[in-house]
Amino acid sequence: MNTSFNVGIYIRLSRDDGNIESDSIVSQRSLLNQYVKENNYNIIDEYVDDGYTGTNFDRPAFKRMIKDIEIGKINMIITKDMSRLGRDYIGTGELIEKYFPNNNVRYIAINDGIDTFIDNTNNDIAPFKAIMNDMYAKDISKKVKTSLHSRMKDGLYVSGRCPFGYMKDPNNKNHLVINEEQASTVKLIFDLALKGNTYYSIAQELTKRRIKTPSSYYNYVWNKKINKCISKELGVWVDTTVKAILTNQIYVGDTVQSKTKKINYKLKKIIKNNPNDYIIVENTHEAIIDRDTFNYVQTLLPKNVKRPEKKRFYLLDGLLYCGDCKHRITVRYQNKTGKSYTTCDYYRTYSKYHVCTTHTNNYEILEKIILDNIRDICNKYLDKNKIKNSLGNITFEDNNLKIKKQIESLELTNKKVTENLDKTYIDMLKGILDESQYIRVSKTLKEEIENNKLKINNLKKEQINSSKIDNTEKYINDFLSLDNMTRELIINLVEKIYIYKDKKVDIVFTFKNC
Ligand SMILES: [Zn+2]
Repeated sequence: MNTSFNVGIYIRLSRDDGNIESDSIVSQRSLLNQYVKENNYNIIDEYVDDGYTGTNFDRPAFKRMIKDIEIGKINMIITKDMSRLGRDYIGTGELIEKYFPNNNVRYIAINDGIDTFIDNTNNDIAPFKAIMNDMYAKDISKKVKTSLHSRMKDGLYVSGRCPFGYMKDPNNKNHLVINEEQASTVKLIFDLALKGNTYYSIAQELTKRRIKTPSSYYNYVWNKKINKCISKELGVWVDTTVKAILTNQIYVGDTVQSKTKKINYKLKKIIKNNPNDYIIVENTHEAIIDRDTFNYVQTLLPKNVKRPEKKRFYLLDGLLYCGDCKHRITVRYQNKTGKSYTTCDYYRTYSKYHVCTTHTNNYEILEKIILDNIRDICNKYLDKNKIKNSLGNITFEDNNLKIKKQIESLELTNKKVTENLDKTYIDMLKGILDESQYIRVSKTLKEEIENNKLKINNLKKEQINSSKIDNTEKYINDFLSLDNMTRELIINLVEKIYIYKDKKVDIVFTFKNC
């Protein structure tokens, strides 16, 4: 027995080593044991890192081995090849050229012919080998990334964790299906946003209703007393979670991936990707929120994402503009007075240049005046339409019905004419009509079809317009009947509100103001 060497054999296998049979734990172990036996070394321990990458040294068995070197338990390390020790050039090089010699440890990489205690040319190429291993790791990481990206581009869901509201399809791990319980929470969040609630107020409402948070589904701990898994999470919703859900395109059925990336294949650190580099594939799974609702909610969300969200909710927030400089007017709460005031943003930012004036108003009073004004205009709008409607014999609803019937009748006519056209063609083939007769008849029929199509298109446009008027009437009626205004209603009726320095107010409506 070669007693002067106490050997530790080190074995490592990771996913990025590919499926090479000779790299399997079993084959590494048998090779190493055979080598130890042949050379009559004294084996002390075996260190196995199964499933750990060689690109860093953050591996449990490796750390244990270093500790054993330090306490003098082992003084010789054997691996199958250098890449088992590590695929990081600098780290591996330092181990072999500095750490092992300094600690009087002999290192052998069997297949690379490296033995640090024997002066041979193989040892000189150790640094180059290390570079090769490093490049291999880089290459593999690139390959993994490329294949991952192409899978993302195919619309396959490749992440391990499911987005809130979905779960993995039991028949296909790259496909999402709806998780009904979570999806109902997602719908509720969008509903609350539609009603004009802020992220913060939605979060509060969800917490109040004791609705489970996304992380409460993941963080379970075993409770010994009741012998059951219980959620570690208290179930407190925060505004960032609400925001993440309201802005996630996944809910309309699109897969949005590659939102983050690793800055380097060696490091664990992850950074956010540029939105232009997101990989988006539409309609890859069932939607929880329809596209129209989703897009509409986006318009309700606070526009300036950089600024921390205000915790106070102002009905007219985002609609107020300075009448003089046309910049936005914002509302701020003043602790001193306990009241909220408006300020021209342009003035606040550049006050020292005297570009505009403060435009300070007490918000509550302003809101009341504006709402009264909107009510007034809405009443006038309805009155005028009533008069208009009583003059004409048809109401809007009747008109829409009439248009719908006209479209149906034209579509039916076109269907018949097309059948006729087909028939004339067959008649010509049969010899009942000659070619010139066919050309003449078919030309007339084709013209008729085109004319009808044009008429249908015009009617459809009219239909959209009158349904818009219908909606305006509906919004106005809702508005007038409500004591507590919702932001959704206001946004449907009002486009912008201009405030002038002489306290004059201009309201721009979404409908034609009479
Ligand atoms: Zn201004």
